[in-house]
Amino acid sequence: MRIVMLGPPGAGKGTVAQKLIDDHRIPQVSTGDLLRAAVEEGTELGREAKRFMDAGELVPDDIVIELVRARLAQDDCARGFILDGFPRTPAQADVVAAFARIDLVINLDVPDEVLIERLEARRTCRSCRAIYNLKNIPPKVEGRCDRCGGELYQRGDDRREVIVPRLETYRRQTLPLVEYYSAAGILKTLDGDMGIERLMREVDGIIASVEAS
Ligand code: AMP
Repeated sequence: MRIVMLGPPGAGKGTVAQKLIDDHRIPQVSTGDLLRAAVEEGTELGREAKRFMDAGELVPDDIVIELVRARLAQDDCARGFILDGFPRTPAQADVVAAFARIDLVINLDVPDEVLIERLEARRTCRSCRAIYNLKNIPPKVEGRCDRCGGELYQRGDDRREVIVPRLETYRRQTLPLVEYYSAAGILKTLDGDMGIERLMREVDGIIASVEAS
């Protein structure tokens, strides 16, 4: 199964993708995580990408496309994958279409005021990248990841001064993908604010019906 998670920052793409990994045994490919890893490693690519990430803008296509290409060529992606945060522009979607047939696009719809609240309360594990929310999905031990005990931190771009440009970037450059995938007949839009348990039941139901078809 090849799935694309679509939706604005904070909609829950990563949270849903991380839950799907265990059940469906297919890897999550998050371009945000790949880029942050490159930034932490201090590679040239990471230094170049950081300027755009800090400003809430998209990293240029050539950088991101190369990262994704290399990741999808790895063995664990042969049976399928969940793309999280990619594609983010119609040009990136054309690249995906050229090397893989996407079975399903899950589009999470969440109002801006909820997104802003969620992003400000989001904490991420430095080690395993698990996602928490201080209000809705808090860790059992403050500041520590339930899964691996790693340190939880607030991403630099999860501050209001970067959240607002990120939402504008989403509307300008990524929102056209809703129409793109709707026209392809593989888009399912869900209310991303219905609560994670109900949302996962809906997502599982959709995946089951796509698998059966
Ligand atoms: P995310 O973790 O998906 O919210 O991504 C964090 C940041 O990484 C974004 O604000 C962009 O600057 C950059 N980024 C992630 N995915 C992409 C992509 N597909 N194309 C361009 N930039 C990206």
